[in-house]
Amino acid sequence: MEGFIFERAVLEFAKYFPKESQKKPFFYHSIRVGVFLWNQGYSEEIQIAGLLHDTLEDTKISEKEIENLFGKNVAGIVKANSKNHLLPKEEILEDIVKRCSDYGIDAMIVKIADIYDNFLFYKKEKNFSEIERCKKLANLVLKYKKDHDDKIFYFLGEILSFDNKIILLGSGDTLGTPVVGCNCEICQTEKRTRFGIFITYNGKNILIDANPDLKLQFLENKLDYKNIDYIFITHTHTDHINGLGELSFRKEIPVFYSNDEINSRNMNYFNYLEGEKVIKRISYKNFEEIILEKNIKIIPLPLNHGFPTSGFVIFLGNIKIGIFSDTNLNLDEKILENLKNCDYLFFDGFSENKEQILELYKQIGEEKTLEDLEKIWFHTTIEELKKLKNILKPKNLVVVHISHIAGKYNYLQEKYKDLIIGKDGLSFNF
Ligand SMILES: [Zn+2]
Ligand SMILES: [Zn+2]
Ligand SMILES: [Zn+2]
Repeated sequence: MEGFIFERAVLEFAKYFPKESQKKPFFYHSIRVGVFLWNQGYSEEIQIAGLLHDTLEDTKISEKEIENLFGKNVAGIVKANSKNHLLPKEEILEDIVKRCSDYGIDAMIVKIADIYDNFLFYKKEKNFSEIERCKKLANLVLKYKKDHDDKIFYFLGEILSFDNKIILLGSGDTLGTPVVGCNCEICQTEKRTRFGIFITYNGKNILIDANPDLKLQFLENKLDYKNIDYIFITHTHTDHINGLGELSFRKEIPVFYSNDEINSRNMNYFNYLEGEKVIKRISYKNFEEIILEKNIKIIPLPLNHGFPTSGFVIFLGNIKIGIFSDTNLNLDEKILENLKNCDYLFFDGFSENKEQILELYKQIGEEKTLEDLEKIWFHTTIEELKKLKNILKPKNLVVVHISHIAGKYNYLQEKYKDLIIGKDGLSFNF
């Protein structure tokens, strides 16, 4: 009957358990790893190896003793899962994973169970640097996966994508949809709140623009102002900035804005928030890289919006995100160059086409031509984005800053299958 040997292993382990107090409850961790492997249907040998995986490192038991008690395979798996302290510190993790991989799938299974339990533990503790370490190990396991295949590899995905996400808070334009007083068909059914993006990466939260619908968006997405670490402002048009007044926590959240005269002047309106220690103003300069954290880097770039406006290229580890919410396509080659091969590119798609803009002018009694638009119109069309996608080759091009005139979501998504039509609350885990 299965289980008796496991029990014996627990008792042996307890016998060898060090008397001095430990940094974390590693006996409990070991038991969980063993039980997890039982739950997943692995052999008793693997369960026991899981239970004992830390014992060579942390107790006085020897490999020989493990072998005598539980056999060669258990001892071999535990050995593969133990650090080689003779190596330089930076090589230790990779060396373990490599040896587990060389030993075989049994050792890999125990390694993954070990990483996964640590991940769950540190997730509870909200210890993001340890979660980072779990992610690093998970990546190493994938690196040395070779031909090994097993359902346990599935758990790595959960670790790697944990908490890293982008939420499109609002997909709408300056007015938002529905537009007050508008009787158009789209305004009867669609909802597009003002533009904003919330990014979570390794426990840090970045808010792009503070729009007037911020409160509703935070409630809707169960977010908390308290957890914002950085705010980046593309420009100080009201639909991108008025939400700053929603913030109330005395956390001195750094608010990055463009150092040009107009944006700086408009930011002065929020001096009272700085006085109350809610925000801290920090100006940025286009093209100058800002390093927020290890692995988080942002480059502001000048756009063409008829108003000093920036777009952002954000690097989160290996992930590249582009955010160009308010601009037409009369941009310098070298600006667009920065947007090549984004994993996620959020781009202005105010209308479906230019004819809709001419119609818009007509409604206010102004007759314009397509040539006029070149000089007076500072947004992009979804038709243009379709072409842009072929040039910039982003993995995902998300259309944002969409006005009511662009059309209904279903119509647009059906017609532009290569693009992701923005939708409030749309989120991407990465
Ligand atoms: Zn805007
Ligand atoms: Zn409308
Ligand atoms: Zn604007």
